[in-house]
Amino acid sequence: MSEDCIFCKIVSGVIPAKKIYEDDDIIAFNDIKPMSKVHFLLVPKLHVETLKDCDLTHQMLLGKLLLLAPKLAVEQGLQGFKTLINTGREGGQEVFHLHVHTFGGGAA
Ligand code: 5GP
Ligand code: ZN
Repeated sequence: MSEDCIFCKIVSGVIPAKKIYEDDDIIAFNDIKPMSKVHFLLVPKLHVETLKDCDLTHQMLLGKLLLLAPKLAVEQGLQGFKTLINTGREGGQEVFHLHVHTFGGGAA
């Protein structure tokens, strides 16, 4: 938990979000500014800033995040989808808590 991290606040329930999935390690919720009809974020409960900060200790978590994307995408009615992980400011990352975008269903 990082004090001023918006996704940690969503994980702890301080800030509300349209949650579509939760388990011990991961939460998934709809993006507040969807770029497509379906646009959700897969977020580890553990505060890790970026993909660049991950190492072998995060291997299981990264695998779990990626395996969850198709499962939730299908649940959201998608046949196909895109996934995206922005890394670092130069990589377009705005929220510095690792997350996997999943998009589909055409323009929002
Ligand atoms: P990034 O550019 O870091 O990869 O993407 C951050 C994403 O988080 C953006 O698509 C943005 O719309 C979303 N986001 C930022 N703040 C909130 C929030 O408070 N709630 C939700 N649901 N999404 C947020
Ligand atoms: Zn965080």
